[in-house]
Amino acid sequence: MKAAVIRKYGKINLEEVKKPELGKNQVMVRVKYASICGSDQHIFRGEFHPRIHLPLIPGHEFAGIVEDVSKGVVNISPGDKVTVDPIIWCGKCAACKIGHYPACTSLKLVGIDLDGGFAEYISVPESMIYRVPSHVSDENAALIEILSIGFHASARAGLEANDDILIVGSGKVGNSILHAAKTITSGKIIIADVLDDRLEMAKSAFSDIYTVNTRKNDPIAFVKEITGGRGVDIAFEAVGHEKEIEGRLNPIRLCINAIRGAGKVCVLGLSDHPSEILMKELIWKEARIIASRVSHGEFSKVIEALDKGKVHPESMVTGIFELKDAQKGFEFLENEPEKHLKILLKV
Ligand SMILES: [Zn+2]
Ligand SMILES: [Zn+2]
Repeated sequence: MKAAVIRKYGKINLEEVKKPELGKNQVMVRVKYASICGSDQHIFRGEFHPRIHLPLIPGHEFAGIVEDVSKGVVNISPGDKVTVDPIIWCGKCAACKIGHYPACTSLKLVGIDLDGGFAEYISVPESMIYRVPSHVSDENAALIEILSIGFHASARAGLEANDDILIVGSGKVGNSILHAAKTITSGKIIIADVLDDRLEMAKSAFSDIYTVNTRKNDPIAFVKEITGGRGVDIAFEAVGHEKEIEGRLNPIRLCINAIRGAGKVCVLGLSDHPSEILMKELIWKEARIIASRVSHGEFSKVIEALDKGKVHPESMVTGIFELKDAQKGFEFLENEPEKHLKILLKV
């Protein structure tokens, strides 16, 4: 079969590789679309050491049609439209023992720690498979994983129906929170970024949200203005780095300063460097910082929302490439981050 393989950082090429075998209790999926994630970009650049072992077939966001199932698989049949929850937890560590799987100390992901879905076929255990209604487009089915990140963050933060929120970072994660939040709250949603094109992309999907370019405007003053001086109930940090823009607070302090008293900050950005926090800003508000990692079964919620037409993730897609042109897809994302959000690979 054909697969897009990274053998050297910065290069992803279509190769002829061995088709995976169908193991016990496994389902073989013929992949139709896969989506390039921010983590894939980190892998592509060579930044995910020491987790990554090359050569690697990346891809943890994908969907397709069931090609074959092994004996014993009864709930999934060939021809079903499906997507794959890429998370593998150990089941033995302290977090797993209390059922808190996203905090598993040896958490692995298909497409990161082992070969993934940038390939014609992949075989995975039945437990990782989610059936997708046939009327959901193949493209949107490949975006279920990224949406699950936003649904999980909303659940972690305890987002409620009338909450006002701030999302710092209008990238892939920020937009997945935006799409998820729109199905939960009818409160005010403010999204902050330094790239006008990114803010416009978010605004074109949801005309009633508020956007602020943190380079051009003071985001705290903006939040105060929009919320009548009150501050937001929850601020999500989805930037992924700790850097400050001159004259502004770093992303995490921006979140702390944007919330109301007793508000919440939910952090998702994976920076390799420490972020400065002024503790008294947190203490005086008796605020809470909550972390959110991957997802925890939110695939069902996303699929339900897609089924009912409550989410429209296609607005995040800025390009579709053939699998053989994966390199081009990665280069667009690397070189023109202001123009591209989600790039799909058609397999
Ligand atoms: Zn991802
Ligand atoms: Zn574990």
